[in-house]
Amino acid sequence: MLVFFDYAKQKAYLDKIIMKKALFLDRDGIVNVDHGYVYKIDDFEFVDGIFELCLTAIEKSYDIFVITNQAGIARGLYTVSDFEKLTAWMQEIFNKKGIEIKKVYFCPHHPSKGDNEYTKICECRKPEPGLIIKAQQEFDIDLENSILIGDKESDILAAQSAGIARQVLVESKYTKDVEVSAYRVNNIVEAITYL
Ligand SMILES: [Mg+2]
Ligand SMILES: [Zn+2]
Repeated sequence: MLVFFDYAKQKAYLDKIIMKKALFLDRDGIVNVDHGYVYKIDDFEFVDGIFELCLTAIEKSYDIFVITNQAGIARGLYTVSDFEKLTAWMQEIFNKKGIEIKKVYFCPHHPSKGDNEYTKICECRKPEPGLIIKAQQEFDIDLENSILIGDKESDILAAQSAGIARQVLVESKYTKDVEVSAYRVNNIVEAITYL
């Protein structure tokens, strides 16, 4: 008797019962060049190597999420709706490259800046782990096999508090005096090695 091994079926089955590992990306400085409070499509410049990184992550069965502080909303520089429009456009560009960003989680708050409903202490602004924990709960993510890439100490601290096993810090204007323990790379292309 011949037994056919249906790899696709087997994989679909395993994907269902095995918790998914994730690649968490910070946005500003990792997905797009950090020009400061970017909320317009015209100002959104993808970082070199980001598509390569994501395609490699997909090949290696990571689900991709973006975890981003957007205090520009608390500061009154742009609205949630502005942010959502830009996010929808960004996800469409990724889709066209064959990359699915599962979900974008954002913190609109700032503890003191601004004077709207988003000016408050919250549990989602990195270095707090709130957004990562929310993603973990919504998507049943296996954080011990997951990875986060960021360009600030607060990204790394959020990842560590949430229990993400591996953190990659991309050197930036924010990392000069940072001594946090993480894999350190000079750019996104170098980060691919850690997937
Ligand atoms: Mg950043
Ligand atoms: Zn928040």
